[in-house]
Amino acid sequence: MKIESVDFFYLSMPEVLDIGDGSQDALLVRVAAGGLVGYGECEAAPLPSIAAYVCPMSHSACKPVRASVEGQPLEDVADIRRIGDWVRENSLDLLQADHTLSGIDMALWDLLGKRLGEPVYRLLGYPKATPRLPYASQLFGDTPGETFRKAVDAVQQGFRAVKFGWGTFGKSTLEADIHQVEAARLGLGSEAHLMIDAGTVWGEDVERAAQRLPALHAAEVAWLEEPFPGGALAAYEALSQRNPRVPLAGGEGSHNFFTAAQMVDHAGLSFLQIDAGRAGGISIAHRIAVYAQARGVTYVNHTFTSHLALSASLQPYAGMEGALFCEFPIEPKLLAWELTCEHLAPNANGEILPPEAPGLGMTVDTAALRKYLVDVEIKVKGHVIYRTPELK
Ligand SMILES: [Mg+2]
Repeated sequence: MKIESVDFFYLSMPEVLDIGDGSQDALLVRVAAGGLVGYGECEAAPLPSIAAYVCPMSHSACKPVRASVEGQPLEDVADIRRIGDWVRENSLDLLQADHTLSGIDMALWDLLGKRLGEPVYRLLGYPKATPRLPYASQLFGDTPGETFRKAVDAVQQGFRAVKFGWGTFGKSTLEADIHQVEAARLGLGSEAHLMIDAGTVWGEDVERAAQRLPALHAAEVAWLEEPFPGGALAAYEALSQRNPRVPLAGGEGSHNFFTAAQMVDHAGLSFLQIDAGRAGGISIAHRIAVYAQARGVTYVNHTFTSHLALSASLQPYAGMEGALFCEFPIEPKLLAWELTCEHLAPNANGEILPPEAPGLGMTVDTAALRKYLVDVEIKVKGHVIYRTPELK
């Protein structure tokens, strides 16, 4: 079969708030080939990613992503990898290309899985999926009291691991942060795993991050996530050496294999978090997972959007041993929730497994999504190079 069409749908909540919640809009990708369709989701600003697909060529190494995708044969896994390699070569200087490719790559795996009647993880070579302990991923409350209540709620819902992040954490005083961490631990009780996500709040300021280590250590956090932006390798490495030792997690901003590999090799990480919707899709996320595992860094998915993205994010490390956790967003916006008809839920043991259905195992709820569809037209020299397609 050949790739017949690739369509991008920009979906948005009526109001997008200035908060650390990536589920407020979405870029859904639909690929059609051989009478089948596959879906993926890009986890980056939707309009620049659409632009990267359709923009005019700037020079030979700065072609639109479209140039390397449409009309390509799609028969097996090697075809997906070849298309990715070609995008990276032809769109070398187009910095949004990896984000745009991410959703396309997911859709190609979904489509090929449907064609071959296999879940994606089996196409990646895993005979079976290993259960993961989902950590309930949510924002800090505005006050320690609110964080405490959110922690109690998550445990009552059955979660044995909970992450709090962003909000005001790291933005006011040391005491305020300590109170937030203590409230989270108090609400969870002593048994549940607690993760803290600083959302890159300290820039490269190792000392400010290090001031929080005693409180994080006392709360026995499973990890401190993103004290610094991805790529701030020296700051990560320095913090990882400080006492008391607190395991570090990071890497969600990785936008290709090499940026992720640098985090594995030079950031002193215990956990590497990869968003398949940013890093180049399932293909690159899988390559990164294999690289991290071989170097003793534990791979974890990064996902804060729909269950289509969640399924895609579980596939790259689905069969790996030793990767205990998976991120599980518990307060997505309605748009992200309504994106799929099916939803992943913890089993009787409180664990998550990827779907057994072919492809990504998710049905996109096109009828529910129409109300979120944003009308967009991009024109160059009087010619329309993109117009929002019909969602049906
Ligand atoms: Mg994070």
